[in-house]
Amino acid sequence: PQASSRLSIEAEEELSRHPCYSEEAHRFFARMHITVAPACNIQCNYCNRKFDCVNESRPGVVSEVLTPEQAERKVKGVAAQLMQLSVVGIAGPGDPLANPERTFDTFERVKRQVPDVTLCLSTNGLTLYRHVDAILALGIRHVTITINAIDPNVGREIYPWVIDEGIRYEGQEAAELLISRQLQGLELLAQQGVLVKVNSVMIPGVNDHHLPEVSRTVKALGATLHNVTPLIIAPGSQYERDGRKAPRPKELHNLQEVLGREGMKVMRHCRQCRADAIGLLGQDRNQDFILEKMDANP
Ligand code: SF4
Ligand code: SF4
Repeated sequence: PQASSRLSIEAEEELSRHPCYSEEAHRFFARMHITVAPACNIQCNYCNRKFDCVNESRPGVVSEVLTPEQAERKVKGVAAQLMQLSVVGIAGPGDPLANPERTFDTFERVKRQVPDVTLCLSTNGLTLYRHVDAILALGIRHVTITINAIDPNVGREIYPWVIDEGIRYEGQEAAELLISRQLQGLELLAQQGVLVKVNSVMIPGVNDHHLPEVSRTVKALGATLHNVTPLIIAPGSQYERDGRKAPRPKELHNLQEVLGREGMKVMRHCRQCRADAIGLLGQDRNQDFILEKMDANP
């Protein structure tokens, strides 16, 4: 059973309509991820840049990168055909906030086309604090931050480098910077009433014993929900070379139980959709909505 949380009735209402936040909503409301953000400003050891961001999607999958204008046309077409469309999110294929112009331009266009849709954003959090005003101005109510560690000693095993304002940081320094920015961004958004979900990738031998501490910390800073997903190793990634393994389902389940007992609202229904998923859960209709085909048959 999920532990009760201190959410307002309003926030619970909002969550119940968002497929990423509510198991029930997954069956009735469709979501659409659009891929307009190719660049990333960090390196995760489980990622290989030839593919989509592993933090929100399955690795080994390459999405078509759309311009904001193309994304607008696509959303318009999908909204006309998919009545249950309730959420439009930007999650990749890199980090949306490493491509802020493209990301925010797209959100503005989507808002004009389908004003009643919920907008959501996923990020590694490195530059989040700089974009809080833009997020609030657009009325984005749902943000996901992938936080795999709060201890830089753990983080340095996950992130070999980050780049911020043209400066490259490595090792301990990289992990310290990333973690401090993630927690800062989380706190700023939560203070403004934005519903923040934290994703953590469970990496056996690296952060599995550390994730309860991550969960306590993000909860204290105002995260609404914690989603722990199993490590999926992208082909060609550092973790593949290191021979790392995904957790067994039982190990993941046990960890989720531990987090739930500590009072965090833990998400268990995430199927790790690809960054360009469209439709209800378990029913990715991406292939029905390829832009070229849509343009040919308006
Ligand atoms: Fe997002 Fe996971 Fe839901 Fe897919 S299954 S829409 S990735 S929360
Ligand atoms: Fe890859 Fe996403 Fe990590 Fe960037 S944030 S390195 S795209 S998994």
